Amino acid sequence: MAGVDAMLLTHLPDVRYLCGFTGSSAALVLVGGRATLFTDGRYTVQARAEAAGTKVVIAKKPAVVAACEWLESAGVKRCGFDATHTTVTGLETMRKSLSAKVRRGMFVAVRPVVAGMREVKDADEIERLRVAAQVGCELFDGMLTYLEAGLTEVEVAATLEYAARLAGAEGMSFDTIVASGERSALPHGHATAARLPKQGFVTLDFGVILDGYCSDMTRTVHIGKGLPMERDVYDSVLEAQEAAVAAVAPGVTAGEVDEAARSVLRRVKLDKYFSHSTGHGVGLEIHEGPRLAAKQTQVLEQGMVITIEPGVYLPGRFGLRIEDMVLVTANGGEILTPSVKAWIEL
Ligand code: ZN
Ligand code: ZN
Repeated sequence: MAGVDAMLLTHLPDVRYLCGFTGSSAALVLVGGRATLFTDGRYTVQARAEAAGTKVVIAKKPAVVAACEWLESAGVKRCGFDATHTTVTGLETMRKSLSAKVRRGMFVAVRPVVAGMREVKDADEIERLRVAAQVGCELFDGMLTYLEAGLTEVEVAATLEYAARLAGAEGMSFDTIVASGERSALPHGHATAARLPKQGFVTLDFGVILDGYCSDMTRTVHIGKGLPMERDVYDSVLEAQEAAVAAVAPGVTAGEVDEAARSVLRRVKLDKYFSHSTGHGVGLEIHEGPRLAAKQTQVLEQGMVITIEPGVYLPGRFGLRIEDMVLVTANGGEILTPSVKAWIEL
């Protein structure tokens, strides 16, 4: 990399991506095309198994301190570090690990290069994302026979998450969102003690982690008979979501996909209630690049896996969102979460 003769990586998903190690204590140093992984004694067996092919150093001190000391002993003068994921305290620790004579000028903040590499998935990653997304769909289908008025949002989340574990999930991609009734107007309403209404929307936004890779999907269903106005808003969000999915293709900008959704909602004067961006990349982390938001000039590439998730939120009344994971293919987009999106009344 320009201007530096080594890279120090401490963001765990980046470390996993580059060498396979999944432990919670890790620093990966890259010098001249060679990688050295630093971790601690808890991971002696695991690191050697997972990061086969990478030199592993089991340190008796924090991994990052051992890595910094090693940089100095190896004669490195300028080392890049990930400015996005390094805290002020972390940088201070890195500097203090060096002697005074090399401390000045050693660490150079660089763009998160690995994050860029991770945006385009290889065949193996796509397969894992496909399986995780499929499990998500099966979980949603299971919820359709379970959801009913009177259940608390927390009970719904617990049932979904228990089923996810039984289906093999290592964990959830994020805290399950269950937002019902008036609370459906909260775009990120975490599950509370509120009870599902006799009549009203329930938004479920959730994901599972399988083999390290995250799924992410949202469906909004209606309990009891919906009002014509609720159906109208639902149809508009669905039309916006399908328009954005249809816009996905290599060479299209993230902003164009966002605009495809936003313009549908603008036409029916709901765009001001669509208060977030259209989507995000998903992979080892639930939120990765690219970001699909207004005016984003980043160009989509084959192999990216993104979400398309427009929503409309009418404060104090109701809200809804529909979200799919979409793989950017050679000539368009393939939905990885094919659960039904048509209006559902339970
Ligand atoms: Zn989501
Ligand atoms: Zn999402």
